[in-house]
Amino acid sequence: MVRQRALRGFTFGAPTTAEVELAEMVEEIIPSIQKLRLVSSGTEATMSAIRLARAFTGRTKLVKFDGCYHGHSDGLLVKAGSGVATLALPDSAGVPPGFARETLTARFNDIKSVQRMFERHGKKIAAVIVEPICGNMGVIKPEPGFLEALRVITRNNSSLLIFDEVIPGFRVARGGAQEICRVKPDLTCLGKILGGGLPLAAFGGQSKIMDLLAPDGPVYQAGTLSGNPLAVAAGIATLKLLNRQGTYQKLEAKGQELEGGIKSVLKHYGLRAAINRVGSMMTLFFGVDRVTNPDEARACDRQKFRSFFHGMLKRGIYLPPAPFEAMFLSLAHSSADLQKTIDAFDQWAKSQRSVDR
Ligand code: PMP
Repeated sequence: MVRQRALRGFTFGAPTTAEVELAEMVEEIIPSIQKLRLVSSGTEATMSAIRLARAFTGRTKLVKFDGCYHGHSDGLLVKAGSGVATLALPDSAGVPPGFARETLTARFNDIKSVQRMFERHGKKIAAVIVEPICGNMGVIKPEPGFLEALRVITRNNSSLLIFDEVIPGFRVARGGAQEICRVKPDLTCLGKILGGGLPLAAFGGQSKIMDLLAPDGPVYQAGTLSGNPLAVAAGIATLKLLNRQGTYQKLEAKGQELEGGIKSVLKHYGLRAAINRVGSMMTLFFGVDRVTNPDEARACDRQKFRSFFHGMLKRGIYLPPAPFEAMFLSLAHSSADLQKTIDAFDQWAKSQRSVDR
């Protein structure tokens, strides 16, 4: 087995015992990762993974998906999800057109759109980056076969497949989305849960790719706070907690409880909405029956969402403020918390009867 390293970016000093411990835990949990580099944010993780993919393939273009958000580095603010989608910005001001031109945008769950990109730009595509379970246009699941087809198409074209698991990593399953869908990416980006609330993120993958990183290789990457002891200690503690028996069954049970409660309220009051849920992440899209891609997400009733958000807030439940975000449940949410949420939803739904009449 290749020994893990988690080089400290700024000094290139030898990794500390704690960094090695964390890296070894991550490798055990996510077997597609043979080597790991610690950084401080999800933005840094995706930005650096893409630089590495470009160096490895000697190509410049990147394929991303409309509605997927991968942080705020220049080339990734093209048709992004999350806050960018909420504000309806196609791109961000301040990004040079030349940078944006290197980013090609395909449609999530539409493999033909990816095939067309490869037919047109063929050997210029360094990598495809995807949220394997999308959380930034609300929750959108990959259709059966979509991620598998991405794996085949990237492999056949000698491009890399990058899974941005900043949201699903350690959340939808211990080993993230790739554990559920059984597709192995070349590189994986992690963040959020990895630091247990402290600023920690990482990217990792096959050794032959990771070995291109400085100081061993020519791809520069560094960060003063990368692998800082506080965040690494929080990461180790978090992964130990998550490794406890039954964690993901508990999260699934909580997800089912909330989804079940919300569904019965919707039915009772005759409200139309689609619920997309994977384990502890969930989104409610009003006014539509199903959401499988960002176009369908954008077609949801945003006015109704606004009323729902404020109605819930008024009743003491603070939800994400846009349908292009996911609700996240945690182990800390008790059954009483979930019931309180369902009751608040019931009261809000009741108040809609007069509005809809
Ligand atoms: N990738 C995904 C999938 C994300 O959801 C986010 C943040 N929401 C990022 C990358 C960027 O992470 P950060 O905010 O830590 O830079």
